[in-house]
Amino acid sequence: MEPTSETIFRSRLPDIYIPKHLSLHSYCFENISSFSGRPCLIDGVTGDVHTYADVELTSRKVGSALHKHGINKGDVIMILLPNSPEFVYSFLGASFIGAVSTMANPYFTSAEIIKQAKASAAKIIVTQSVHVAKVKEFASENSIKLVCIDSAPEECLHFSELVSGDENELPEVEISSDDVVALPYSSGTTGLPKGVMLTHKGLVTSVAQQVDGENPNLWIHSEDVLMCVLPLFHIYSLNSILLCGLRAGAAILIMQKFDIVPFLDLIQKYKVTIGPFVPPIVLTIAKNEEVVDKYDLTSIRTVMSGAAPLGKELEDTVRMKFPNAKLGQGYGMTEAGPVLAMCLAFAKEPFEIKSGACGTVVRNAEMKIVDPDTGASLPRNQRGEICIRGDQIMKGYLNDPEATKRTIVDGWLHTGDIGYIDDDDELFIVDRLKELIKYKGFQVAPAELEALLLTHPDISDAAVVPMIDEGAGEVPVAFVVKSNGSIVTEAEVKQFISKQVVFYKRLNRVFFVDTIPKSPSGKILRKDLRAKLATGVSN
Ligand code: AMP
Repeated sequence: MEPTSETIFRSRLPDIYIPKHLSLHSYCFENISSFSGRPCLIDGVTGDVHTYADVELTSRKVGSALHKHGINKGDVIMILLPNSPEFVYSFLGASFIGAVSTMANPYFTSAEIIKQAKASAAKIIVTQSVHVAKVKEFASENSIKLVCIDSAPEECLHFSELVSGDENELPEVEISSDDVVALPYSSGTTGLPKGVMLTHKGLVTSVAQQVDGENPNLWIHSEDVLMCVLPLFHIYSLNSILLCGLRAGAAILIMQKFDIVPFLDLIQKYKVTIGPFVPPIVLTIAKNEEVVDKYDLTSIRTVMSGAAPLGKELEDTVRMKFPNAKLGQGYGMTEAGPVLAMCLAFAKEPFEIKSGACGTVVRNAEMKIVDPDTGASLPRNQRGEICIRGDQIMKGYLNDPEATKRTIVDGWLHTGDIGYIDDDDELFIVDRLKELIKYKGFQVAPAELEALLLTHPDISDAAVVPMIDEGAGEVPVAFVVKSNGSIVTEAEVKQFISKQVVFYKRLNRVFFVDTIPKSPSGKILRKDLRAKLATGVSN
């Protein structure tokens, strides 16, 4: 029994019915008969339009072909792609046969991709020809099949072979609501990236919490056009754009990468109505007034920012750029499924909201704020660690029961974020207890960079922490202790790391120090290093 003194916060909206027994694909396509001929995916590069009927059928065909190529229930495929219709078909195709998709950034280095492919035991990698060289050898040594969506080098299947699968041969698999369907990687509150097991029930619940019911948190209808520029390999885009869009029957406009001019062009051309963004996109819109003012952006009725903090001033500036839009924030964490809270200004019958808030807890879920030292539940207006409980959270970390036990305690997922809930049930995030660094919403795990630094012969100890950066939000910087007699330079250390990681994990600065501050138990005192940065350090 919970002690009665716990303060538990719930949504201001009533709970809803959630069809948790459905598999994710059945849930997404449950209402397809009402919009089967409507546009589902619009390819922003080619202009091709795929209707709901096309998307459902092609996903079945891909599922059938994946099965023919040896993928069975519970097997993992890796999707190593930028936003594209093929990403969507691979993900849904895998879901249809009870398989699991692990999504990775295609710009990862070879070592980063292989680490994830190995840890997740991926059997097929779906990618583009430019990335094949990074995985070719590993794939051939481990009998992993490669599928290419563009010209297919000799060692790859072409994606068209999956699309020509026979939907009548789709195997009949029994999918339980607790089966895993997506396996994104996240470092969570500490350590290295881990596979986050998201189940059919978890994702169905999370999508329903956002878009189902009479007055949903995120009101989307089948005439809406959603801008899908955030990478689908991140759960924010996969869940809140793709899956929510599919459930609602909206058109999803797929853009491969953010570039201000084509981005504005597409918004105007397709009369985009919903813009799920991240703070760096919001910042670019705010800073490029001359360009932005040339476009008609009046079609946009909702601008949602998430994945990283959005300052109140920036929020207010951008509000002026979208005269017809409600603007607010969502708060997510991969392990939470990912959405914990969402602004109620997006509801069908919107509520007044405050700038700077990240919404109120989603429906059918409980939130509490706990004292990070004592674990005691705190009342309103007091700052503590944000915890969430509900069917949407992860099942656990893949093959890591210890990390799972540390993160989910009595059903409560501990976020490692510090915040408070005010008198109007609005959540404000004020700090981060966990190690995580967020570069433009992308995760950088300090432990990963520290482990790489320690492999350098001239480095005897190292710690990586975030430094505030206007454009990126945060950038990683390292404090490094040189080995005896070493004359290694900052540039050399930076280059050593750059060669091994994707661009956003590169070290912005390296500071040489005599020791790394640690607790008696050997934990790096990251707060001290962050404080040191705030007061100014130099080499
Ligand atoms: P990820 O798992 O990559 O989605 O990262 C989750 C983390 O991003 C959260 O635990 C927060 O630290 C941060 N985050 C996400 N949304 C917000 C937001 N609206 N405001 C502040 N931080 C956020």
